[in-house]
Parts: sequence; structure tokens; C-alpha cells
Amino acid sequence: MARRRTKRGAQRTDLSGGFDVVVCGASFAGLAVARELAGAGPTGAGGAPRVLMLDRYEIGERQTSACAAPTSWLEALGLTASVRQTFPDLVVHTPYGSSRYRLPFTFSTFDYATLCGLLDDQNDAVFETAKIEGRDGTTVHTDRGELSAPLVVDALGWRRVLAGPDGGYQPPDAPLSRGLEVHPGGNGDDLEIWFDRSYVPAGYSWSFPAHDELRVGVGSFDPRFHVKDSTVRLADDLDVDAVRYQGNWIPHRLRPAAEDGIFFAGDSAGHCLPLTAEGIRTALYFGIACGRELRAVVEGRSTREAALRRYAAFSASHRRAFESMLLLQRLVPRLPPPVLWQVIRAVGTKRLVDWSFGHYIAIAPPSFAGGGNSNGRPPGAGGQGMRAGLEATPQSG
Ligand SMILES: Cc1cc2nc3c(=O)[nH]c(=O)nc-3n(C[C@H](O)[C@H](O)[C@H](O)COP(=O)(O)OP(=O)(O)OC[C@H]3O[C@@H](n4cnc5c(N)ncnc54)[C@H](O)[C@@H]3O)c2cc1C
Repeated sequence: MARRRTKRGAQRTDLSGGFDVVVCGASFAGLAVARELAGAGPTGAGGAPRVLMLDRYEIGERQTSACAAPTSWLEALGLTASVRQTFPDLVVHTPYGSSRYRLPFTFSTFDYATLCGLLDDQNDAVFETAKIEGRDGTTVHTDRGELSAPLVVDALGWRRVLAGPDGGYQPPDAPLSRGLEVHPGGNGDDLEIWFDRSYVPAGYSWSFPAHDELRVGVGSFDPRFHVKDSTVRLADDLDVDAVRYQGNWIPHRLRPAAEDGIFFAGDSAGHCLPLTAEGIRTALYFGIACGRELRAVVEGRSTREAALRRYAAFSASHRRAFESMLLLQRLVPRLPPPVLWQVIRAVGTKRLVDWSFGHYIAIAPPSFAGGGNSNGRPPGAGGQGMRAGLEATPQSG
């Protein structure tokens, strides 16, 4: 459901100018930020805030993941029309056997373009396609001009394009995982993952059905391990074609969520969870938190400095949870495979699954979405009151 076509040639007019907020990146994190700004205002100058959202591609044009997320998050944001398939179980395979976990909440696979379109319907920002090249202070350099705003968000993914001079990440030396998947036609009943070192020494592989398509891939916690051959072999073992590739680097370390006057949300702040590489839910969660802070500033209820400070502290308050996940990410590849299998089997009891996945979802709980954004309309058409302020958020641990 990509609704506008990426502008080319003469359509790429100069966008130079001043705005109240510039949101760079229009995937999960950027769209969540913009959603929280819908209906904001008036600004100190009296008018509605001028919010500009930019992405190099049309909204929903380039899928950035396998698109599996807790169903409760999709419901909380009014995005269930994008759901392709819902799973009550997670099936974990090892060379020694398989275990079926009945989860305390379901996961759903969704259609990326539809989800982005639905989320985009919940903001009133102006969207333009532009390539972001860097910045000086809070002036953003793009291939369509220089854009200035007191509030600038980098929701551009792992590259953290708007980082300061020393802030860029260069794989394979940065704390990044790598993931690659193929999207053949086909179907299946289960959300499946493999801990099998013949595919990847440190990491896991997956097959996520999405109604009439499978998303089959391999993720390596070690950025030096090339996952292409393993992805092809897994597809082959599952008897599906290795077609329609999609891959990227995946951050596995939290980074400062505010730096040098810029807000960072989603992968640009390392908000993707280590071990599972689940980054959609967290991009939405931290995007919402960031958007709420920006809204308070444009409405004159807070200052830019306070917003930077509060948002950075909010993100950092999750450090313990992210570091625990990182510890597990380091531990799992070190366990001898028969021991890992025993652990996976032991964790499969209902009490332990409920306990561990309960803690896991609490890192970024769907209640934070508050059932709507901040402008008093229900999800899908806007939102309801600034209900879940940052202080109200459960702290992770
Ligand atoms: C193979 C793979 C499978 C995955 N599967 C899952 C999964 O099933 N579930 C899950 O929760 N997570 C998954 N992840 C992780 C997830 O994709 C990310 O954590 C998530 O996409 C982060 O969202 P984001 O909005 O921060 O960044 P992104 O989704 O990466 O979006 C960044 C946006 O910025 C734009 N952009 C980038 N650079 C520029 C520029 N210079 N100028 C203009 N625009 C730019 C991009 O076009 C894009 O729209 C997967 C990752 C990979 C690699």
C-alpha cells in the first residue's frame, strides 16, 4: 500500500527551510514519533507545529525485516489490518530435538507496506522523499536542500546517519549482528527458529510464515560471519526457493538516545533487543516515547533541553534489560549443543515460558502505546490523551 511514488527529476523540488520538527526516517521508529505529534499545538508562535518527515524511499516501499511482532502491539496501535498470520506457539529446533513453547502472548507476521500505511494515517506530518546526508548542528543536509529545526530525530536505522563525527558505525568492527532472509511463496503453521551451528555458529535461523509467503533467514551475532550460504542452505532444506532477498545489519548494543542536540530512536539508538534481534516493538516503543517528549516541547510544556535529557534517561533506564539480553546472546553460542538442548527443553515448561516471556514483553510493553496517540482520537484515526507519560512507564530490569 505504498501510496505515493518516490519523487524523481523535476518533482524533487528544493525543500530548504525551517521547521519545528524534522523526523528523519519513516519506518517503525519515525512513524511512531510522527504519530505522537499528530494534532499537536499550538506552538509558542500560535500555529500548528510544522513537522516534516523524510525518507529516501516512499513509506512502506522497502521492507526492513521479517515483520513478526507481538500481536498486542499491533492491536494497541490499530494496525491489525496488516496482520498476515498469528501464532500462539514458538517452535525451537536444535540438532538434538525440538521444543514447542506455548507463549503467554501471540506473535503475528504482517505486511510491511500495509502496516506503514496504517501507521502513517495516524500522523499529520508532511512527508517528502529525500536522501539524508548529514548535518551541522540541527541543520540537516539532504539531496533536496538544507532543513533546520530545533527538534531533529534520527530514525534512520543502524547507520545513525546524524551522529556526531565519531558516532558512525562501520561494520564489521561495530557491535552489529547481520541478518539475511528470503521470501519464497509458501505456507506453514508455526513460527520456527533453529539453534543449529551448522547454519550459524553464533546466532539463529528462522522460518516465519506470512499466509502465502515464508520469511526464511539466518542471523549471526558475529558480524564477520557471512550468512548468505547458510540462508540458501536453510531454504533448500525447507524445500523453498531462495528468492527475494532482504538483509541488513542489526545493532545489538544500546547507544545514547540523545546526543549533540539530536534525538535517536529505533535501530539508530541500538533499540533492537540482543539475542532475539526483535527491533520493531522497541522501535515503536522508543519512537512513541520520543514523540511524547517532542510534543511537550512544541506545545510549550517542556524545553528542548529537558526533552533531550528526559528521553535519554528514559532510554538508558532500559540498559539493564538490554545488557541481560546481550549476556544471553554471548552465552548461548558458548554452551555445548547438548547442554543448550537441555536448557531449551527445560525452559519449555509452561511456568518458565510464562515467566521468561512475561519479563521479555515487559521490556517494552504494549500498554505503553496507550491505545492511541496523544491527540484524543482512537488508534487508526489519531489517539487518546497523553496517557502513558514517560514516568508512568514500567522500568525494565
Ligand atoms: C533480516 C532481518 C529480519 C528481521 N526480522 C525482524 C522481525 O521479524 N521482528 C522484529 O521485531 N525485528 C526484526 N528485525 C529487526 C528490525 O528490522 C529493526 O530493528 C527495525 O526495522 C528497526 O526499525 P527502525 O525504524 O529503527 O529502522 P528501519 O526499519 O531500518 O528504518 C530506517 C528508515 O530510514 C531510511 N533511511 C536510512 N538511511 C537513510 C538516508 N540516508 N536518507 C533517507 N532515509 C534513510 C530507510 O529507508 C528506512 O525507511 C529484522 C532485521 C533483519 C535485518
